[in-house]
Amino acid sequence: MVGGAFLTSRPPVPRTGSSVGLNMPNTRSEQLFADAQKYIPGGVNSPVRSFRAVGGTPVFIDRGSGAHVWDVDGNEYIDYLGSWGPLVLGHAHPAVVEALKKAAEGGTSFGAPVAQEVELAQLICEAVPSIDAVRLVNSGTEACMSAIRLARAFTGRNKIIKFAGCYHGHADGLLVKAGSGAMTHGIPTSAGVPESYASETLVADFNDLSSVESLFAVHGEDIAGIIVEPVAGNMGVVPAADGFLEGLRRVTSAAGATLIFDEVITGFRVDYRGAQSRFGVTPDLTCLGKIIGGGLPVGAYGGRWEIMEMVAPLGPMYQAGTLSGNPLAVAAGMATLRELQRPGTYDRLEETARRLADGLKGVFARAEVPSSINRVGSMLTGFFTPGPVETLAQVEASDTEAYGRYFHAMLDRGVYLAPSQFEAGFVSLAHTNDDIDRTIAIAESALKAAFEV
Ligand SMILES: *Cc1c(COP(=O)(O)O)cnc(C)c1O
Repeated sequence: MVGGAFLTSRPPVPRTGSSVGLNMPNTRSEQLFADAQKYIPGGVNSPVRSFRAVGGTPVFIDRGSGAHVWDVDGNEYIDYLGSWGPLVLGHAHPAVVEALKKAAEGGTSFGAPVAQEVELAQLICEAVPSIDAVRLVNSGTEACMSAIRLARAFTGRNKIIKFAGCYHGHADGLLVKAGSGAMTHGIPTSAGVPESYASETLVADFNDLSSVESLFAVHGEDIAGIIVEPVAGNMGVVPAADGFLEGLRRVTSAAGATLIFDEVITGFRVDYRGAQSRFGVTPDLTCLGKIIGGGLPVGAYGGRWEIMEMVAPLGPMYQAGTLSGNPLAVAAGMATLRELQRPGTYDRLEETARRLADGLKGVFARAEVPSSINRVGSMLTGFFTPGPVETLAQVEASDTEAYGRYFHAMLDRGVYLAPSQFEAGFVSLAHTNDDIDRTIAIAESALKAAFEV
């Protein structure tokens, strides 16, 4: 049956000939998107780029510099996507570009050890107190997938707890969200994830410690660990409530399970030493990505010696990578971390993001559009709901249709936001007060246009 379906299926868009029956593209972005859909599923290499959550055609980006990007039609935007988090220095930062040029000239990959990967590993271990040793990989997905395998290897147990609304990359067992209750086994979010595999993932409610305790009461002996975003970023920004992370630490320690912080977004974002230092809770394992690659594909997982000793070739947990730790990716990461070490960096990020959040709060209040802005350091989300927004259920109360209208009104006026309500916005060191003040003024006019107030 599957073979038959394959044989009779055709690309939905003809690869040659005229675009009869299609809307004629008007802009270069529309042309490119029409072409993209002939060769790439949905025209994108990562689903949320497709604008499906907000409608319309994605803009194709031509180039970026600092806090600004330009699309292929020549429109300029103040960018708050920041490539979904990595670009804490902004686009094409001179130090990163210089490091990349130099690295490229010396060869991009050898599949043999290089000095530079030791330097990046050392920078990470020195920065994040809970990381004694670290393994570099190529994406956040790989980091989380590997950390979970390691937690299972270390504890000799199979089950993992994740929280509904938290994202840890697209590995099979992590593409699972809430079933009908916290006590039920996970239901696969994605087709193609075996039920048997998904059933090893238990789903709890973010900011609800009792939902975790209930799972431990039933499955305690089988739970290898909990993976959590210490500041949720992938349902929009939702900070951990007071005592929540401490509670996870207590419960896991008592049960002999591992606590894994997925700091792929928060690492080097909310603090140079990670969310774990900002909030004073120490995990057993940490996943990193995004910023540590400075815009190139890098991830990492690390933790205590006694756990990291399980990783091959020291131990029996196998994990490998052809391009892991390559000089090019590592150069961009190191240049980024060195810039972040400059005094005052995180105060500046905090100040700039606070200016933006305060300004937007005023604008939304004046426009009488119900909203709630969550911010931790330089990551923030404005939810179209009166709030407070502390749980996934409260997140889901947001008016996504209103967000879509606001998103397009902002885009039309030169501000590039994440094309979904349920994402974080990122302020970089390249955003100036002028960028922020212009964004706030644009938001005022965008709200007027979108909601006719
Ligand atoms: C982005 C992200 C990942 C996945 O990283 P990729 O590099 O996209 O594979 C994992 N965890 C969190 C918290 C993320 O935000």
